[in-house]
Order: sequence, then C-alpha cells, then structure tokens
Amino acid sequence: MRYYELLQDPDQAVVQKQLIGLLTDHCPQVLEDLRQEADEIRHRSVGDTVHVRGIIEFSNYCIRSCRYCGLNRGNNQVQRYRIPPDEIVKTAREAAAMGLKTIVLQSGDDFYYTREVIADMVREIKKTGVAVTLSVGERPRDDYRAWREAGADRYLLKFETSDAGLYEALHPGTRLDIRLRCLEDLRDLGYQVGSGFMIGLPGQTPEILAGDLMLMRSLVLEMAGVGPFIPHPGTPLGQDSAGEVNLALKILALSRLLLPWAHLPATTALSSLEKDGRRLGLTGGANVLMPNITPPEYRRLYEIYPHKAEVKDSSRELYQATLELIKELGREVALDPGHGLSPATRLMLREEL
Ligand code: SAM
Repeated sequence: MRYYELLQDPDQAVVQKQLIGLLTDHCPQVLEDLRQEADEIRHRSVGDTVHVRGIIEFSNYCIRSCRYCGLNRGNNQVQRYRIPPDEIVKTAREAAAMGLKTIVLQSGDDFYYTREVIADMVREIKKTGVAVTLSVGERPRDDYRAWREAGADRYLLKFETSDAGLYEALHPGTRLDIRLRCLEDLRDLGYQVGSGFMIGLPGQTPEILAGDLMLMRSLVLEMAGVGPFIPHPGTPLGQDSAGEVNLALKILALSRLLLPWAHLPATTALSSLEKDGRRLGLTGGANVLMPNITPPEYRRLYEIYPHKAEVKDSSRELYQATLELIKELGREVALDPGHGLSPATRLMLREEL
C-alpha cells in the first residue's frame, strides 16, 4: 500500500501512529520512497508548474520575544530598518514588471505600519494585477478585514509548533490558542491561508512533530511552510543545534501526502542549511519558490537566522536563477497567480489521487 493511502485512514490515532513510525525510521530508503511518492502526488494534484512568489521583507522591527528569532525585540545586536511604504510599493511594481505574479509582504510584528498604511499599500500593489500575500504577524481581526477589503488575497502565519507547552516556552507572553484564533479569523474573512511549523526546535519530539503535521492537515491550508530551525547567536536558543536537513525533507514529503493540493515552498531555511535545498525541495513535494526581492541594502538586516540564503544578489539575478532552476528540472514557471483551490473542491478531488 502506498504511504498516501496509509495516511488516509479515517482514524486519526492510526494516522498519528503511522507518522511517528515514519519520523523515527532513519532508513534512507524510506526517505527516498516518501520523496518519490510526494513528487508523484505533487505531479497529479498541483501539476508540474512552479509558482514564483517574490518576497519583500519590509521591516525587521518586532514587538515579540520569540526565543528562536533574530528579530526578537531583545536582540540589540541587530540594526533595525523600516522601508518607507512608497519604496515598498515601487519595489512591488518593479517585481510585477519583471513577471512575478505574487508579491509577499513580510515583516516583524511592527505596528508602525498601521491598518491604513498597509491597506493603502495593498490597494496600490493590486493595481499591477498581481496577487498579494501578507505575513505581518498577529493583528486584530479588524486589521485583517481592512486588508482583505483592500484586495489582499492570502496570509501566511505559521503556528510554529502544535504543542501548547512548547509554544508558550518559545513565545513568552503569548499562547498557541491566540495564534490559532488569528488563523480562524483569516479563514473566516476569506483569505487563502498559509501556516506551518519549524523542524528541530529544542524540546520537540517525534510525537509533537506528528501533531504538527496533523494540525496542518486539520487547518485545510491553501499553503503550508515547513522548514528547519536554524539557531541565531543573538537569541536564547543560539547554542542549540539546527534542524536536520533529512528530517526537513521527510516532513516536506509527508506534508505533500497529507495536503495534496496545498502550495508548498522549498523554504529559504532549507536552502540556507543545504546549498541544493531548492532543488531537493522541488523534487520532493514542493511547487513554490520565493525569491527575495527586498532591496539589497536592507536584505542582510532581515536576519531571522544567520547565513540566510540570497542576501547578496540583485532581485533580478535571483529571479533569473529561480527561473533557470525550474527549467533545469524540466518544470515550467506558472503563468497564473497560483491561487489555492477551495476546501470543498479539494475534498471532491481527493478520490482521484
Ligand atoms: N512576524 C511574522 C510572523 O510572526 O508570522 C512574520 C515574520 S517571522 C520572522 C517569519 C517566520 O520566520 C516565522 O514564522 C518562523 O517560522 C521563521 N523563523 C524565525 N526564526 C527562525 C529561525 N531561527 N529558524 C528558522 N525559522 C525561523
């Protein structure tokens, strides 16, 4: 029986057990088989095109104290920056003119950019015809509503870990249920929702990772991001070890089997740990690449972890390299914005895999 079928068991406890078994099995052949199956499912569900989303990291100010993140408010080694809104819009316009179909606006949780400022930027960028994804953290529902009304299509907010105790230990002063409430608000407001978690966090067990995958599936996400934790020396977790590349690849493959129609990126974190990360991601379940189009003078300052990939080249060079990789793999660059299928359509299509 294929792994895909094993993971369709209606009994959640059975699926959870299967996942723990797979996550604790270190046989290289199991990883290869999972990757191959994920690649086949990806081909049948979302096809051979790769969606290219340009990401603008527009502010590294953050009010939060996430213990793993280089942007956390307590890190006074980092030089902080905010890109002015008109420069963000100009960068997005240039990216749209280069051919990008989606612009992702990401920042620390920075309330300097008010509800109105972000809504105005979204409205301006939408005039170029691209899809807009926001990833600016936890905000009041009315902010999310205003941005959706301004035309934002998607929102990325990782839940980071499904274990409430580990979540609280990593995020002083906040709770997992608050994060999940934000995801519910976003779903309610009609966003295409992206979420996910980090792999290799200190204190994470195979049971927790299996729970992460189960939670990701139960959220019926349009986009799912899973990538390794990378320690940042300016954070309390600076001396911990990074997540393992092979475990990250296994979890990416499992994510494809559990969420066949979701858009899954080959993450920057993966390519920061493994120079062939993008290729390995795209051949093991992923169908999205997110080149960094932040103006180069700011890019190295968005240091969520050290040695981040893509800090040096110009946006045009990175975009070209992305297109070349896709061609080299015999895949095609998607010409559509790559919206997610509705949850109802995905349920209907499930039988066909
Ligand atoms: N403020 C927004 C939020 O919280 O969703 C978006 C910015 S946040 C820096 C984006 C993502 O970076 C987080 O969801 C987290 O998974 C990832 N991240 C932060 N520190 C990391 C680290 N040390 N290793 C790997 N990923 C990290």
